[in-house]
Amino acid sequence: MPELPEVETIVRDLARLLPGSTIKKVEVVRPDLIEDDTPEGFAKKIKGKKIRGVTRRAKNIVMDLGGDRLLVNLGMTGRLLVARAGEEEPTHLGVRLTLDKGRELRYHDVRRFGRLWTLADDAWRTFDGELGVEPLSDNFTAEWLQQAAPRSRVAVKTWLMDQARVVGVGNIYASEALFRAKVDPRRPANSLAPDELARIRDGVRQVLAEAIEFRGTTFLDYRDASGQEGAFAARLKVYDREGQTCGVCGGTVERIVQGGRSTFFCPACQH
Ligand SMILES: [Zn+2]
Repeated sequence: MPELPEVETIVRDLARLLPGSTIKKVEVVRPDLIEDDTPEGFAKKIKGKKIRGVTRRAKNIVMDLGGDRLLVNLGMTGRLLVARAGEEEPTHLGVRLTLDKGRELRYHDVRRFGRLWTLADDAWRTFDGELGVEPLSDNFTAEWLQQAAPRSRVAVKTWLMDQARVVGVGNIYASEALFRAKVDPRRPANSLAPDELARIRDGVRQVLAEAIEFRGTTFLDYRDASGQEGAFAARLKVYDREGQTCGVCGGTVERIVQGGRSTFFCPACQH
């Protein structure tokens, strides 16, 4: 599942390619991908609009249409690709937006857990307000963690993955951030000392920034906006490395299950 670095990589590509383009034609091949609207209603809201900017909020791609916003969430296997009209068609095409200058924006999704929807200004503000703090923003500080963490006894890895608290950190980057912070993922959030919370803050920001630099992690499905894989998988230190040697201490990376998800960590390095 794409996490913050993968979505950010796509957004940076799209922010370079799309602004100034007008949506000329809307084809909805898979109506179930459109949330809260009929394919016709959705098409009517975005057809003829100019894309003014592309940003990210949590794991959502947000296109500013000058008033309304078009949002895309990739779900498990969604891909959003910029292509030339007539270029080879992807399988599992869900939505095609024909742009000017012979280009298309294509959304395809094998498992169809992704979704596309529009939000007017007020609805956007409500949506934005209900999401947690952006971990790469100035609001994600050690002080913020010191305020928020003592209120919860949830294991810190599960805590970090709650999108109402911190957005965009999923299973891969929560494990990696806690390894970098040298904090045991099983620790209750309210047991963490200020210096440990400061290390967690740094670990989260470092791993996300590095993963963006390497254009995200591809195991199976994730591709950037031009269809290329990310290169960060080779740089993961614990995730999906059960039984392998820890690069820091020479111990063995272990796997446990927390909240139904695999957690990878080094018991010798993380306390
Ligand atoms: Zn270790």
